[in-house]
Amino acid sequence: MKYRSSRGLAPELGFEDVILQGLASDGGLYIPKSLPRFSDQEILKMAKLNYQQLFFEITKYFIGDQIDLKTYREIIDESYKNFHHLAIAPLKQISHNHFLLELFHGPTLSFKDFALQFLGNLLAHILSKRKQEIVIIGATSGDTGSAAIMGCKACQNAKIFILHPNNLISLVQRKQMTTILDKNVFNIALEGNFDDCQKMVKSMFANQEFLVGKKMVAINSINWGRIMAQIVYYFYSALRLGVGEKNNISFSVPTGNFGDIYAGFLAKRMGLKISKLIIATNSNDILYRFLKNNDYKKMPLQATLSPSMDIQVASNFERLLFDYYQQKNSQEKFVSLIKNFEISSKMTVDSEILAAINRDFDAFKIDDQEIIATISQIYQESGEIIDPHSAIGVKAARQFMASKDYQGELLVSLATANSVKFPGAIIKAGLKSPELPKFLEDLPIKKERYQIIENDLQIVKDYISGKINL
Ligand SMILES: *Cc1c(COP(=O)(O)O)cnc(C)c1O
Repeated sequence: MKYRSSRGLAPELGFEDVILQGLASDGGLYIPKSLPRFSDQEILKMAKLNYQQLFFEITKYFIGDQIDLKTYREIIDESYKNFHHLAIAPLKQISHNHFLLELFHGPTLSFKDFALQFLGNLLAHILSKRKQEIVIIGATSGDTGSAAIMGCKACQNAKIFILHPNNLISLVQRKQMTTILDKNVFNIALEGNFDDCQKMVKSMFANQEFLVGKKMVAINSINWGRIMAQIVYYFYSALRLGVGEKNNISFSVPTGNFGDIYAGFLAKRMGLKISKLIIATNSNDILYRFLKNNDYKKMPLQATLSPSMDIQVASNFERLLFDYYQQKNSQEKFVSLIKNFEISSKMTVDSEILAAINRDFDAFKIDDQEIIATISQIYQESGEIIDPHSAIGVKAARQFMASKDYQGELLVSLATANSVKFPGAIIKAGLKSPELPKFLEDLPIKKERYQIIENDLQIVKDYISGKINL
């Protein structure tokens, strides 16, 4: 399997290089040149597979011949052995046609474990085979950092640096990162906000000389390995609910960088019968404005109760647009659109393309007050305590079910984090602060290690280069 850049100017790469590459050299994102397509019958046959077996069947086409399939099976098993639920991605019914897909049973309690446990094991394998050492540098607004550290800490050939905004993430989120004391893990609390952290990672990626010959690998949500892993739970949940045989299904996805819902879109392209993919946004609503008014324009960032979705521009959206323009054979138009956006921070697409996107997707925008009301309502109706991100998905699903587009199909809302990570919102909803699961009980008393560093690129670079040759 070969991968190409969305912007068409970077070299084509095989699977392993795509995983190590992140952003393409022309600024685009890597996309597989073709997708496997499963018939209804083939999908139904997969109903008997457990999560790990299904992962293998759905994704083996993307690997090509770079990893032998037996080793690949082992990497998958290793990646899901630290989950604390035998079903890996269990479903919970919250009303007649509406189910929560609980994606928070991994070691750091958010759906990001699904991708980053896998990516960590994959990197460990590729690097030891190639005898190569890398430096992982990432920025986090809370969930990505701990998932990346837990996923990659066992990788001997990687040093991991995670930047978080000092004092701007929850205590649980910080401790999930800073209590990991492995020698190759470094937490930086930057005296700035998440945007500052992200900007810094970007500049370091663009100029890697300070890494003295070591390669920097980006583990943010544009990494193809992360997207690929997330395709699986769309198939898994649809199969549990008997989709294809007797039911149709729509998914509601709390969306920030568009990685998770893009994986759902790929599942649809690969043959899964999905009616609608519902983009659930918070007040940072660029995707909502786009679907409704063809208005894709960068706006000032708003801090909300759902910090992991506080983003101005959805990086993976470029992959989606590429897909629709490619179907129309308008690659050139696509590239000029994207280039223009980089200059003007706004974009309007052809009305035909917008109409096509609106056939596959719907969008709803949920504000903080609705988040709180939804958390409280779902608790009263079903006894479930959902986190503020999941609440956005649930509320969007409900608004969709009340709209004229709803055809009576089953609705699955992705529950992307455990509520214990966001006690502030839970208390605002009038509920008791949730308790840490047993395996994290000792988190509050564990020793922390992290470095507070001022918001200065050179000082951060010096700190990192001082650590990588230890
Ligand atoms: C990262 C995150 C999201 C957003 O996912 P994207 O793939 O960036 O769209 C939603 N909810 C939680 C809890 C997250 O950590």
